[in-house]
This record gives sequence, structure tokens and C-alpha cells, in this order.
Amino acid sequence: MKASRYNFFFKEEGLLFNAVTCGLAQVLPTHAPSIEAALNDPNDQNLSRLDTDIKEKLIEGGFLIEDDVDEDTYLKAIFNLRRFATKNFELTILPTLNCNFNCIYCYEHKRNDRMDENVRNKIKEQVASLTEIKNLGVLWYGGEPLLFPEIIFDLSDYFIKYCQDKNIGYQASIVTNGYFLNKEMARDLKEIKIKSAQVTLDGPEVVHNVRRPLKNGGGTFERILANISESADVLKIYIRVNIDRGNYTYLPQLLKQLKSAHLEKKVQISLGLVTTISEACRDYEENCLRIKEFSPLELNTMNDLIKEGFAGFYFPKPIEVSCMAVSPQNFVIGPTGELYKCLETVGDEKEIIGSINSISLNNLNFISPNLAKWLSYDPFTVPECKHCEFLPICLGGCPLYHLKQSENYNIGLPCRTWRFSLKDVLKSQVVFNV
Ligand code: SF4
Ligand code: SF4
Repeated sequence: MKASRYNFFFKEEGLLFNAVTCGLAQVLPTHAPSIEAALNDPNDQNLSRLDTDIKEKLIEGGFLIEDDVDEDTYLKAIFNLRRFATKNFELTILPTLNCNFNCIYCYEHKRNDRMDENVRNKIKEQVASLTEIKNLGVLWYGGEPLLFPEIIFDLSDYFIKYCQDKNIGYQASIVTNGYFLNKEMARDLKEIKIKSAQVTLDGPEVVHNVRRPLKNGGGTFERILANISESADVLKIYIRVNIDRGNYTYLPQLLKQLKSAHLEKKVQISLGLVTTISEACRDYEENCLRIKEFSPLELNTMNDLIKEGFAGFYFPKPIEVSCMAVSPQNFVIGPTGELYKCLETVGDEKEIIGSINSISLNNLNFISPNLAKWLSYDPFTVPECKHCEFLPICLGGCPLYHLKQSENYNIGLPCRTWRFSLKDVLKSQVVFNV
């Protein structure tokens, strides 16, 4: 037997974690020396000093592995299996790049456009060619997709019928600023099988309204909160809080406001780090927090959420594929039928990989240089990542960062927050007994 190269032993806290299995063990002080010796040097003598049941648990949790197991080969195999699996197909569709908001950090290249009937017909045709799939997932995105709900209804009706006829599973969700998401709209979206909506609130009212105003400068918080309260009975609502230097101190106030609205059992909250990876928002850079600064904030907020009665499950899990943008079964379709691989590149003409009119999504007939870079991306060759002990729970983070690095952007590594908070996260999970 040998020790996994992805073991983390926090002796003072009595916690043993394996990043491949995400197994967590609490270690009694009396057992710590023999476990430590066996993991540092799993020779016969050290292994024989372990109690039988402890040795079995160490094997079960992936802390001790057979000599012929190569964990990195295993991680690569899982990555390729997921990335090239052909049963699922995922589309992100943007009815428009227009938006009724003017957020201070918005990276999108706003365009006053709207997906026309020709593009919609072409999307329907492409979906009808996906005869081998078992599951179709659609994410509605923008701009603000609910500026043109009729486009969402038209395409959804087609997708739902097609999937029913062909016995294909269908799931849909939406990312919206929440301004038009009243109860009636939530019911209409539920009718077309949209199960969840992600809505952004960037702080308590006074802070949110400065960061996410209407185009004419008007406030949006009150209306969004009312909409969330109404529609959370109909759809699953995920509230996203985009964090940077301008609003992180206001998080506790936002939680209080959401609690006063009795939303703690109805919504799930997550934090997003505002970044400037897109050229469109490069001048916002000095307001952005580094991941090292963001990690403790995220942890404190998750702990506050749990204390306040919100759902706040927060534990590392094995990452099988860094992001589905690197899969040939996943595309982003812009309003004019232009195709991208990644949401953050939407509207950037340099990042277009082709057109819905010329590329067959079912059987890629043309691989442009932009598409090739996504389909050939390999996190296991990134120099800093391939020897990193966090690799199984990070897998190099966001691929776009690495692809931009190779285009000579100096934007650092996209390490997931575990790199800076793992020990404290594990401690808090034990405290909260999750
Ligand atoms: S590549 Fe990065 S930015 Fe793009 S969709 Fe994936 S995780 Fe998001
Ligand atoms: S991005 Fe950072 S934490 Fe993730 S694998 Fe690479 S070096 Fe490790």
C-alpha cells in the first residue's frame, strides 16, 4: 500500500481529509501518531501498528491506496469520460445582449439586439439533429433574457415537444436580474419547465441600488426583493451576491434584510467574486478582491448563513471536469446565432467560435482556431496545477483564465477558494455537524 498524494492531515485540529474522495475523518489524539507514521511511510511495520478498523477506514476514505493505483491517471480518465460523454447536451441561449440595468462592473458588450425568427428556426433545426442524446439542458442568459420572454416561450415549446417525442430528458434554468420575475412570470416559466432562477442582489438596498441601477439610474432592490418573495414559492431561487471591495462589508446587512423578508427557507445564497477577465471591464480591476482575500469572506458568510437558518452547504467535492465549456456537447448561442464556448466571452467578437448557420452542433464539421483551443484545453498540463495538492477539488479552476494566460494576459491563477480556506472549512463543517 501507499499513501494518497492528496492527503491533508491537520494534526492540531485532528482532521484528515483526502481530496480525491473528499473523505473527512476526525482523528483522536491517541490514534494520531500511528496514523501519521503509516501515511508518511506505509511500510509493513507502520501499517501493522494500525488498528484493523482504522486501517480499513483509511483505505475506504482513499487515504491509503494500492501500489498500482495512479491517482492522476484516474483523475484524467474521469475528466475525459465526463468531457466527451455524448448522452447530455447543454445549450446556453441569449435572446438578447440588451439589458435594462447598468451595473457598475458589467463586463458584457451590450448590444441593442434581439434573436430573430431565422436564428430561432436554425436553433430548432440543430436541436432536431441531436438524435442520439438522452438529455438536453438549457440555460437562458443575456443581457436580460426576460426583456424578450416570447423568444424563451417559442424555443422552449419546441424543445419540450421534441424531447417528449424522442423520450429525451429536458431541464431548463434562467439567469435574470429579477426585475421582471414577478409571480405571474415565474408561473409562466414553470409552465415551460424552467425550474430555477439565479437572481443577483449585491447588498442591502442602498448598496445594491448604487451597484445595479436601472439604465435611467433608478433603484431596483425593492422590486427584485418583492419578486423573489413572490416567485420563490414557484421556482427554486438562487441569490447570487457579486463581491468586490465596494460591498463585502455589507454582507451581514443583506442577510438580515433577507431574513426579515422570511426568505431563509426559500432561497439559496452564493457569493461570486467580481473579476476583470473580460477586456470590457478591465478598468474595474482595482475594485476586485484577490481570491486569497475572498476565501475567508466566503467562509464567514457561509457560517453566518447557517447560523441564520439559510441553506449553506459548503464542502469541497471532487471536480470531474473544470467547466463544461471544454466539452464538445456544450455551446453558448448569442442573439445573432454566433457561437461561443464560455459565458464570459459573450459579445466579444474575437472569441466567436463560429455560427449556428455553419457549424453542425451534432457532428462538428468545422473546428475553428477558437473552438480548437477550448476542445484541446488540458488542466493536467498547466505547470502550477499538475503538481498541486488541491488538483482533485479544483482541476485548475476556470479554463478561461488559463486560455487568457496563454494570450499573454497577466491575470494570475484561478485557484478555487479551498486553496486558502480548506482547514477552516473542514473545521466549520465539523462544528456544524454537516
Ligand atoms: S471557462 Fe470559466 S468563465 Fe467560462 S464558463 Fe467556464 S468557469 Fe465560467
Ligand atoms: S488553479 Fe490553483 S488551486 Fe487550482 S489546481 Fe491550479 S494551482 Fe492548484
